[in-house]
Amino acid sequence: MPKIGAHVSAAVSLDLSFKRAEEIGAECTQIFISPPQQWAKTLHSETEIQTYREQAKKTRIGPNFIHGVYLINLASGKPELVQKSIDWLIYSQEMAEKLGAEGTIFHIGSAGSRGQEEAIKQVIKAISQILEHSQTNLILETSAGAGNTIGDTFQELGQIIKGVGESRVKICLDTQHIFASGYDIRTKEGLDKVVGEFDKEIGLDKLVAVHANDSKTELGSHKDRHENIGEGLIGKEAFRDILNHPTFKDLPFILEVPGFTNSGSDQDNIKILKSLLSTS
Ligand SMILES: [Zn+2]
Repeated sequence: MPKIGAHVSAAVSLDLSFKRAEEIGAECTQIFISPPQQWAKTLHSETEIQTYREQAKKTRIGPNFIHGVYLINLASGKPELVQKSIDWLIYSQEMAEKLGAEGTIFHIGSAGSRGQEEAIKQVIKAISQILEHSQTNLILETSAGAGNTIGDTFQELGQIIKGVGESRVKICLDTQHIFASGYDIRTKEGLDKVVGEFDKEIGLDKLVAVHANDSKTELGSHKDRHENIGEGLIGKEAFRDILNHPTFKDLPFILEVPGFTNSGSDQDNIKILKSLLSTS
């Protein structure tokens, strides 16, 4: 059965993310290891790292992921921005290893006014560089496709993965982002078609996590706007199909929703996803 979890706060001390996960019934987590709007590389002490590992073991919550800061852009035309992104991701990958986390999930970034092919070549080079300096999985997130974003089509992600040619490059599928990119997952037939296309262009063996988010904006809107499960345009029934589809049966589902009281991913959203799981 899929594990149902959420993005949880790791503020003050990383290990507190497990306490917060337990409070809402999350079975797996995603955290920030530094403020997401900054380039800071927060230093976490050996004691903090040790406590995190102990809590992961004790609570049996996992798999656990790190989410990259929002400033990352491996496709940018500005070399210093690309270098900062590479450096931060190397830091994050080192932390993932120390924490025993699965790896870093991040948005590749936007090519701006540059040509797609040129940007993709640069992304491949940057990812190879990051992998040279780390051991864990590097996880590319499907993007909503605003502006000239890289990673909004399975074809593009497949091209990058093939270009890097390293088994540690994985994919996190965000239901809201792919919906905004035009992948219609609202019906069973639609879902089968999307899964088939993912397999053809990327390979289902690359899929390691799902960001489970409903959508505030319509199919093909190219807008990154998450909604609580059942309150958006994807809808509860579609999530029932996704959760019970054989493709997703062993995957962690991570909520990144506003929450019913606007306090972030909450117990109610987790309960909804769990209730949709078929127990037969
Ligand atoms: Zn996401």
